[in-house]
Order: sequence, then C-alpha cells, then structure tokens
Amino acid sequence: MNVLWEGDVVVAGGGSAGCAAAVAAVRSGASCLLVESAGFLGGTGAAVLDTFYGFYAPGPVSRRVVGGVGWEVCERLFEAGAAFERPNTYGAGTGVTYEPEELKLVWDALVPDALLHARVCDFVPGTGVVVETVAGRFLVKAQVVIDATGDAEVAWRAGATLDRPGMRLQPMTATFRLGGVDLSATSTAELHALMADADLPRREGSVHRTVHDGIVHTNLTRVTGLDPTDPVQLAEAERVGRRQVRDYVGFLRAKVPGYGSAVLLSTSVRIGVRESRRLVGRYVLTSDDVLAGRDFPDTIARCGAPIEDHASGDATRWEYVHDFGTYGIPYRCLLPVEVGGLIVAGRSLSATHDAHASARSMGQCMAMGQAAGTAAALAVQAGVEPAAVDTELLRKRLREGGALL
Ligand SMILES: Cc1cc2nc3c(=O)[nH]c(=O)nc-3n(C[C@H](O)[C@H](O)[C@H](O)COP(=O)(O)OP(=O)(O)OC[C@H]3O[C@@H](n4cnc5c(N)ncnc54)[C@H](O)[C@@H]3O)c2cc1C
Repeated sequence: MNVLWEGDVVVAGGGSAGCAAAVAAVRSGASCLLVESAGFLGGTGAAVLDTFYGFYAPGPVSRRVVGGVGWEVCERLFEAGAAFERPNTYGAGTGVTYEPEELKLVWDALVPDALLHARVCDFVPGTGVVVETVAGRFLVKAQVVIDATGDAEVAWRAGATLDRPGMRLQPMTATFRLGGVDLSATSTAELHALMADADLPRREGSVHRTVHDGIVHTNLTRVTGLDPTDPVQLAEAERVGRRQVRDYVGFLRAKVPGYGSAVLLSTSVRIGVRESRRLVGRYVLTSDDVLAGRDFPDTIARCGAPIEDHASGDATRWEYVHDFGTYGIPYRCLLPVEVGGLIVAGRSLSATHDAHASARSMGQCMAMGQAAGTAAALAVQAGVEPAAVDTELLRKRLREGGALL
C-alpha cells in the first residue's frame, strides 16, 4: 500500500477533541496529520451545534474551568464578533454560543494541513492507520495514533475493550435553525407548557438565540432505540430525525406565538450522536467520581458539568457535582489497556454511562484533546508508549499551554 504521509502523530477525527489534539501535538514539537472524513473541521460542534458547554462550571458563581486551546478558540470567535456568552447559573452552566461557519474557519486556521474527505478505516499495530480517500486506500505511518472519532472507531478496529452501546444509550438529536422568529413573544416556560399538550417525542429542550437577529437554533428532537454504530440503524435515525424536525416546525408555526412566519433554514449536517462506543481504559470514570468532585494525580482536564442524562425517560435527569465543585478527568481514561501506540480522546473516553453524561461537553473534549496531543508528542520524544508518559511532566506542559488543572 502506498504511504500518503509519515510522521510522529496521526489524529483520526477533526471534532473538538481531534482538532485540539492536533494543535497541541504540533505546538509540542511533533509532526502531526489530522484525518477527517467530512469536508470541514469542528465535528459535532460545527455540524450539529452552536454552543460550547463545559468551559464554565454551574453554581452560584460562574467559574471558568477550561483554558488552553479550547479557550483560545472561544477568544478567536469573540474577536470575530461570532460568539457571545449565554449566562446560565444552573443548567449546564454559562455557554459560549457561536456561529458554526466561523468555527470551521477558526479550526482551518489552527489546523491548516488537515486531510479532509479521508476516513481512517484500519489500525495497523506499530505502523499507523489506513485511510480511505477519493483516490483509494493509503497508509499513514505514525508512532502514536489519537482516536478522536467520537465513536472510538480506531480503538474498535484495534480490538481495544469497549463498552458497547446498550439500550440505555443517550438519544440522538437532529437539530435545526429557524429564521423569522420573535423569541420575545414566548418564554421558555410558556413554550414547554405548550409542548406538554402536543404530540411530540420530547416535551422540553432548547430554542435559543444565535449571533443573528431573528434566527434561532434548536435542540428539540429525540431519536431513541436506534444504535448509532449499526449502519442500517444510523441511516434510519437520520430519516426519523428529519421527520421529527418537520413535526416540530409544524407545531412551532401553528401553536407558538412568535413562530407564525418562521422558515426552516437548515437541519444539522448529520444527526447528533451523544453516546456510542466508550473505551474501557486504564481507569473508568464513575458517577461517584463526578458527584464527589474527585481529583486524581494524573488529572489532565477539569469538569464541573452536571450529569445530564437524556436517556432516563421523557425528561432529562440532572445531577450536580457536590457543592458545585469540579472533578478531574485522569489521563488513564484516554488509554486503552491492551493496545499500544493509541490514545482515545473526546466523547469516547473511558467512563460509565452516567459519568460520560457529565464529561462529554465540548469544553472537556477540547481539554482532553489538548492532553492527548501533548502526551503523544511527549511519548514520541521520549521513545516510550503513551501509557509510560511522565504524567507530572504532561501536567506541567498542559499548564504551560494554558490548561486549568
Ligand atoms: C444533540 C447533541 C447536543 C449536544 N449539546 C451540546 C452542547 O450544547 N454543548 C456542548 O458542549 N456539548 C454538547 N453535546 C456534546 C458534544 O457535542 C460532544 O460530546 C462533542 O462534540 C464530541 O466531540 P468529539 O471531538 O469527541 O467528537 P465529534 O465532534 O463528534 O468529532 C468526531 C469527528 O471524527 C470524524 N470521524 C468519525 N469517524 C472517522 C473516521 N473513521 N475517520 C476520520 N474521521 C472520522 C467525524 O466526522 C467528526 O468530525 C451535544 C451532543 C449532541 C449529540
């Protein structure tokens, strides 16, 4: 097989975690190629959503708990006039609402040489990965592979132990944007009251303002009982999500003041997957760790987000960290037990269903990505496995890179 690229680190997936990993690897002195199956960077953050959570811990005082590459992305968005903070003392904490098209440009600037429209389709132990492209398959050789696919796809192909999705899986959501909306005509409480009487799959959720007057972004649909790692069921989820969008738009236009002249501007590029395969790594983060606000000697990211479980029936279950504190995400949650040369970052970290429901926000995914990229570079420079990286040195480098640990 022809070699397309050879270097220190390859990152599979260009979402929040993968992009931050690539930036950190390069800043730490490693050569790095990011391989992304879509035609743009940003992943779920650009394809489905418009608000970063996890940067701030909720509670009586809003406190920022993520810095580094992730916060630099926010600052670039603020400077471009393409983002604003949406204070929320409780809920998931203060969010950073941004324009997704600008986010793609910010990541393009930070990760200029990413290989787009290329899918990592195999893991070759000791060598790197195979990528499928418009010109066929190529080998990408690297000493460390970072799996930031969200679905732990590389770890799955490599034979790492994974927690398979069961039926207690977070539901999927197709998001959409509407134009011509007067948000001031109906409060969230009034909207939820109108939803309670309607025949809809979910009777709460978010409709919020964007950086553009009159345009709102929604997180309303709820697609359950389908497995996003089964290709046939994933395709069906896209169709179900689209039909639900049609039904919600009809309901909003017909029943909710302020939406009478609303137009559907777009649906998410793909259905949003909250949870699929999770790594069972060298440490499995638990709900006890989250709720107790536990810290670890190898903490590489910090999180104050509550457990936000959409899989517990009709309503979302919220459980907060003790005293609105924060907990640490250990480096070991990114390390497979059996597979060398591989780090897993982002949504597929090693955590139980409940702990994952707290740790999966984009702020934390970027922080985990920064840790993975930095650790990969340290492993290459020391000539050791990622699992043998000196975690004190890793934490020092992360702090130097602006991380809040
Ligand atoms: C409906 C919904 C609402 C949410 N709401 C919020 C919110 O408001 N705020 C918040 O902070 N978080 C929210 N989350 C959670 C958060 O968006 C995700 O957990 C986070 O974006 C995951 O980031 P990631 O980098 O791990 O994965 P992703 O952003 O999903 O990135 C994975 C990337 O890998 C690529 N990829 C996949 N397989 C391959 C492959 N084999 N080869 C190459 N590329 C590949 C994908 O195309 C994608 O770009 C929400 C999630 C969902 C689904």
